[in-house]
Amino acid sequence: MTEAYRDPMLAMADMQLKKAAERLGLDEGMQAWLRTPERKLEVAVPIRMDDGSIRVFTGYRVQHSTARGPAKGGIRYHVKVTAEEVQALATLMTWKCSVVNIPFGGAKGGIAVNVKELSRGELERLTRRYAASLIPIIGSRRDIPAPDVDTDAQIMAWFDDTVAMIHGYADPAVVTGKPLDLGGSLGRNEATGRGVAQCTEFACAKMGLDPSKITVAVQGYGKVGRYAAEILHDEYGSKIVAVSDVTGAWYNPDGFDTADLSAYADAHGGLLAGYESHNPKAQLITNEALLTLDVDVLSPSAIEAQITGRNAADVKAKLIVEGANGPVTVEGDEILTRRGVMAVPDILANAGGVTVSYFEWVQGLQFNRWSLEEVRSRLYTIMHDAFEKVWSVAQDHKISLREAAFVVAVERVAEALQTRGLFP
Ligand code: NAD
Repeated sequence: MTEAYRDPMLAMADMQLKKAAERLGLDEGMQAWLRTPERKLEVAVPIRMDDGSIRVFTGYRVQHSTARGPAKGGIRYHVKVTAEEVQALATLMTWKCSVVNIPFGGAKGGIAVNVKELSRGELERLTRRYAASLIPIIGSRRDIPAPDVDTDAQIMAWFDDTVAMIHGYADPAVVTGKPLDLGGSLGRNEATGRGVAQCTEFACAKMGLDPSKITVAVQGYGKVGRYAAEILHDEYGSKIVAVSDVTGAWYNPDGFDTADLSAYADAHGGLLAGYESHNPKAQLITNEALLTLDVDVLSPSAIEAQITGRNAADVKAKLIVEGANGPVTVEGDEILTRRGVMAVPDILANAGGVTVSYFEWVQGLQFNRWSLEEVRSRLYTIMHDAFEKVWSVAQDHKISLREAAFVVAVERVAEALQTRGLFP
């Protein structure tokens, strides 16, 4: 039986699990076991504000599954964080880790807060208090947090330090996404974008497209989209004809020089606003128009719910590679599938990030450092194997890559549960 959720992402996660479970012939009991998070924690996070007053924020951590290994997932600081949203994201982390076959389950955490309203000192106190509250359930062999929306390497450093102060010993595998000097991994920053570029390569090979001859539009020029565009341009020779961010979208049928785009963004607070004045060949268009450009590949790498029932019929790209989480809605997906547009789903296409987080965790457990070449080559192997597995399941069952990715992921977790057996 499925439950009625208010959060659309949780409803979607539930629907995708149900579809995969039915295809795998899993009974109601197993479906409920797969759906229900193992542990949900809600904590009060009281902090002293700079003006001397006390404010209390609400923090969450949900561990959806530890069937295949310790729980793994980010921590987001956002006003709209709710228990259901955190549960949905934790569930999707379980499937993401499973589809790339790394030994992690899924978790997610967050605090309902607008970080822009906090001073640096308030942000540090918030993070340290939240970290201390999670200590009973986290740890390098239990649940390993990482950065997510509005959290970064500095916040992970405070988190790590708080745990070290309380335990009294160093454990560089407590969190990932740490600064390089504190045990972060080389190649983590580019990892999600690199995985997107690699999935583009693998899908092109199946479609008979040459990556050095494709045109690409990338929505979002942040931690995912920027690296995806740079790597496709620099290493694959693809033509990046459109990019965008929250301030607008830019189109150049002759293709952009991504080094110039990135240098411009670096000089302008990470944004491309005004790029058309800097580069007269860049035509200012809208984010909506970018999504329906006549390109070979579209990579929505900004935010959720961009390709919907409203615009999916107008998408002209032959291939969609989902850098963002949930950029295609259920209605959008139905239309794309009916039209035969191939989409590499988020849980596969953007799993490069969690894969290199896994490498960071392994390096932390070993007090070791890997070279950038080693990180990149291991990432390639994992992404390639995952893509091939999902592709073969899609071919065997004649289903979309999205459905196949869920079938692969759910089957592995169900098998782990069955093999472990039911305690006690
Ligand atoms: P980011 O904040 O670094 O970048 C987001 C980009 O999207 C920015 O360029 C921003 O200006 C743009 N953007 C924001 N709102 C927009 C809008 N309404 N229209 C168009 N563009 C808009 O974030 P990120 O880390 O690159 O994450 C992007 C997506 O990828 C999110 O869905 C995130 O959950 C997902 N993701 C990120 C990682 C990672 O390693 N960073 C891993 C997996 C999934």
